[in-house]
Amino acid sequence: MNEELWSRTISQIKNSLPESEFSSWFSRIFFGTEDKGKVTLYVPSNFVKDRVDAVYRELIENTLSELGESEYSVVFEVRKDAQNQNNLKKNTESSKTEPSNQGQDQKAQKPSKPSAEDMMFNPAYTFDSFVPGDNSSFAYSACMAIAKNPGSAYNPCLLYGGVGLGKTHLIQSIGNYIRKNTKLKVVYVTAENFTNEYIQAINENKTLQFKNKYRKVSVLLIDDIHFLQKKVETQNELFNTFNDLYDTGRQIVFTCDRPVEELKDISDRLRSRFERGLNIDLLPPDYETRVAILRKKCQEKNVVFSDEVIDYIASNITSNVRALESCLTKLIAYCQLLNKDISLDIAKEQLRHIISSNNDTSGISIDMVIKTVASYFNVSPFDIRGKNKNQSIVLPRQIAMYLCRKLTDFSTTEIGYEFDGKNHTTVMYNVQKVEARLKSSEKEIDTVIEKIENQIKSEARKK
Ligand code: ADP
Ligand code: MG
Repeated sequence: MNEELWSRTISQIKNSLPESEFSSWFSRIFFGTEDKGKVTLYVPSNFVKDRVDAVYRELIENTLSELGESEYSVVFEVRKDAQNQNNLKKNTESSKTEPSNQGQDQKAQKPSKPSAEDMMFNPAYTFDSFVPGDNSSFAYSACMAIAKNPGSAYNPCLLYGGVGLGKTHLIQSIGNYIRKNTKLKVVYVTAENFTNEYIQAINENKTLQFKNKYRKVSVLLIDDIHFLQKKVETQNELFNTFNDLYDTGRQIVFTCDRPVEELKDISDRLRSRFERGLNIDLLPPDYETRVAILRKKCQEKNVVFSDEVIDYIASNITSNVRALESCLTKLIAYCQLLNKDISLDIAKEQLRHIISSNNDTSGISIDMVIKTVASYFNVSPFDIRGKNKNQSIVLPRQIAMYLCRKLTDFSTTEIGYEFDGKNHTTVMYNVQKVEARLKSSEKEIDTVIEKIENQIKSEARKK
């Protein structure tokens, strides 16, 4: 690949995003190097890195792969001298500016560049661009009420729910609304950045500046607080920040990927702060809402897809709005590139990967599940299928049954058959065991299962 491909990628992405969103972020991403399909892009700070990695990496990878007709993966690297007009490959100038936190980002910017606050907020995340449905209308209304009346209505407020359901979109909408309509100072930060900045502040003896930054705001928006699990020092700091703001009637909003009671390794006093106020869950959107979201996104991007294509996407992607969006992005790229309308067949072909990795389970066999689980635990597939009651086999067997239920369409009877003829109640019993353990979140079993699950899915994709 070369820079020419990169500039084509950039122009294509430019067409698919709102102008302001494009210029906020893509003016700060620069082509660095490419090696065997692995593309390194340079960005000027950790702050930009985290955001673009979370929000745009997939889009960039898809567009590059599409245009370059080969698979590309992207990593971002912080280069302090990453700047607009320069060819960065030489990396000759060493810059004294642009440290890795957003407060100081501003200093390193030329006047025409967006301010630190602009950089915190994605202009695309507004109440207008959010489609409330059954799953989210309570969260939506609460956020709107907070934006209109920060500090009084629901304080604090915590939104929780799985990935890609609109938590960041909503919490950012509050910020964008307040910035547009008032002069109140509002700060958005991910819990991860909050932690990094805090550690940096301690190392550089700048805790006072840190406190000033977070305790002199009218509205504090902290995204993804599950990241604070086990981070004892940062939890203490957040606890103190919370009390300061709360006692003086300032608004605090958090998001989390699970209900507060399921957080582990969070101090009791901080947990009780999260639980205070309003806790609202975001659920996956129902079919009608998914269609409405797709239509809205098409409208924003100025494209028209047939009802059957929209129905195909909405029926196959059920649990994640971000994945719905990736489908559209992919189809838009295809349309623009080949200047063709999208038929249902083309949509099916183009979206095969996205859809199979989300919920089309047909590529996964029981055998594949058993082998992957066995290799993860380093036991034999034969033992997993068999009757060995040794504790080192029982757990992997339960997990294998659970994943067969979750990832395939086989019935418990069919699954039992593959496990040395066990009957379906045994399968159900084992599946429930795992579910109970997941609920009680013991021993990080959830991360183990997630890892295995991802392995199985990537195995299935190769087929
Ligand atoms: P989360 O933070 O919960 O993981 P995001 O807020 O990042 O999810 O949402 C993922 C993507 O889906 C974003 O691009 C967001 O704009 C979009 N999205 C999620 N829910 C909705 C919705 N109800 N209406 C419109 N777009 C949505
Ligand atoms: Mg998020």
